[in-house]
Amino acid sequence: MNRRSFISSVLPTLLLLYQSRLTANETLTTLNKTGYISDPLFLTHHIAPDHPEKPDRLRYIQNAMRVSGLLEQVVQVGLKQDIGDWIETLHTKAHIASIQQHTPLAHRAAEACVRACLTAVDQVAMSKLDNVFCATRPPGHHALNTGKEEGFCYYNHVAIAARYAQQQYGLKKILIVDWDYHHGNATEVMFYDDPSVLCFSTHDRHAYPGTGDPARKGTGKGLGYNINVPLPCGTNDAMIMNIFQNVLLPTADKFAPDIVLISAGFDSREQDLLGCFDITDAGYASMTKTVMQIAAEHCQHRLISVLEGGYNLPGTAAAVVTHVATLLGKHS
Ligand SMILES: [Zn+2]
Repeated sequence: MNRRSFISSVLPTLLLLYQSRLTANETLTTLNKTGYISDPLFLTHHIAPDHPEKPDRLRYIQNAMRVSGLLEQVVQVGLKQDIGDWIETLHTKAHIASIQQHTPLAHRAAEACVRACLTAVDQVAMSKLDNVFCATRPPGHHALNTGKEEGFCYYNHVAIAARYAQQQYGLKKILIVDWDYHHGNATEVMFYDDPSVLCFSTHDRHAYPGTGDPARKGTGKGLGYNINVPLPCGTNDAMIMNIFQNVLLPTADKFAPDIVLISAGFDSREQDLLGCFDITDAGYASMTKTVMQIAAEHCQHRLISVLEGGYNLPGTAAAVVTHVATLLGKHS
């Protein structure tokens, strides 16, 4: 084959490649502006050797985000410097002082989680991004004001982000969707009498911390703004989607949130070390789409998702990749 006939033989293939690149670029322009936040400080804290809430959780996530190519498609957001006294909006000075004194590395890592969440609120509230995933650890939704770690948690960064969105940006009504396998007990306690924060949690009420009774619906003006949906071992995609479609969606439509936060625990995934639910990655894509639908209809897509639990290292990483790809709009 001479040079000219070689070129003419490969030309159609080159044209095809060029055209498919153009198509890919056009597709990219239709994706959401999705932020991704991580911080080396999240890797510096250990509860105990071989504890399931370990830095490798984030290393696996980071690697899966890179290998999948998603890291190149998200906006990697730089962290704000000063978080002021925002932790004190929901945690007592005594609690913070005790965490600082007894577990200083955990304090720094948990404080960095708050910083990540507040940064995410800045980005979404100022319409710089549509949605953000915060790859944080330690988790936060069990953090009470007991002066010590509760369920691997120190500060409830999702709850603090809710208060920040309200007080800093005037986003009045906050929907918190907690799909972690465990009940978000601290979030429930912090907003139990508050009608401006709708807390929705699916969980196994027989697991730690043993709370999450559906009879706990809120109190005073907050009555009706706390929704617990306990689910049994073996809960699968169809079962949880039934709840998302028939309980979460109509309730959220009535509430009409100004921003949506997800306590995104992936210990509700199949084969988790600490859970007994059977939710697959396709299930998380459907759940994510439902929450995105709420955010699109009521609050210009404003949605922040924050990692809570998830202890099967490759499993959690795979679920996060699916979740972030869905946030980007790749599965719609
Ligand atoms: Zn959990």
